[in-house]
Amino acid sequence: MTHPALLRSKSALIDHVRDWKAQGCKIGLVPTMGALHHGHLSLVDVIRPHVDKIVVSIFVNPTQFGEGEDFGDYPRDEDGDIAKLSAAGVDAVYLPQVSDLYPAGFTTSISVGPMTQSFEGEHRPGHFEGVSTVVSKLILQSRADTAIFGEKDFQQLAVIRRTVADLDIACDILGAPIAREPDGLAASSRNVYLKADERRIAGQFNGILRELVATVRAGTRYRAAELTARNALLAAGVKAVDYVDIIDPATFTPAEDGAKAAHVIAVVRVGRVRLLDNMAVLP
Ligand code: AMP
Repeated sequence: MTHPALLRSKSALIDHVRDWKAQGCKIGLVPTMGALHHGHLSLVDVIRPHVDKIVVSIFVNPTQFGEGEDFGDYPRDEDGDIAKLSAAGVDAVYLPQVSDLYPAGFTTSISVGPMTQSFEGEHRPGHFEGVSTVVSKLILQSRADTAIFGEKDFQQLAVIRRTVADLDIACDILGAPIAREPDGLAASSRNVYLKADERRIAGQFNGILRELVATVRAGTRYRAAELTARNALLAAGVKAVDYVDIIDPATFTPAEDGAKAAHVIAVVRVGRVRLLDNMAVLP
């Protein structure tokens, strides 16, 4: 088992990366907020063949949490995370302080525009500005040639691709498939908050989306399929359906029947947790 370098400041990261770059290494970045699970570790596996050195960052980014969200009690497990990343064979773990990303006097915020106003952007005002800003900084600090993000956060992946393209940030962005539990629930750090009965309800979420996809492919119209899925989710016991929508994945606007590309994105509330899931409808 190789022990990753533990880089606890921006300057430690910069020094480390300078040496790697001098050796001609390609650097891969896996940004996370820690409390790592098998979904995070799958990102490490997917990026590995693309790069020479893998840096996993662990930073619970205050600017992407809104008022009343769980920033203060977001799950944290630094020792467990480092053990998992050692076993996964990553080269470095970047564990910055807030001041390494947001030093005194910091005022910049990256706003990507229309795609960040709907769905997660509507339910979490300011969230994507925080994400785009911190991800851009993490890529620039680490001089990453490639960075990887999970398709679980489907809108986030699209926003990051847009940010990097619009700002000419020289970094390839990879997406990784959703890692799931055996019943289909997408792995998430916040799943630890689910009580046993809530976990059973959560376990029905993915099956209901798969049913939506099957009925659409069999000819059901999009808006009717969304309504059926919403009712099925409520009947399964979710506390609220924030949205279940079939969208054009290029624009995050509603897909019309007959569209060439369509993707269902959904968020439900179970207990205190917002659960996200999504999948391709077409093609
Ligand atoms: P987080 O720590 O929740 O900010 O997630 C860090 C990265 O891991 C993001 O790119 C997420 O999209 C990704 N991720 C989280 N859960 C999963 C999952 N179940 N499958 C694939 N990627 C995931």
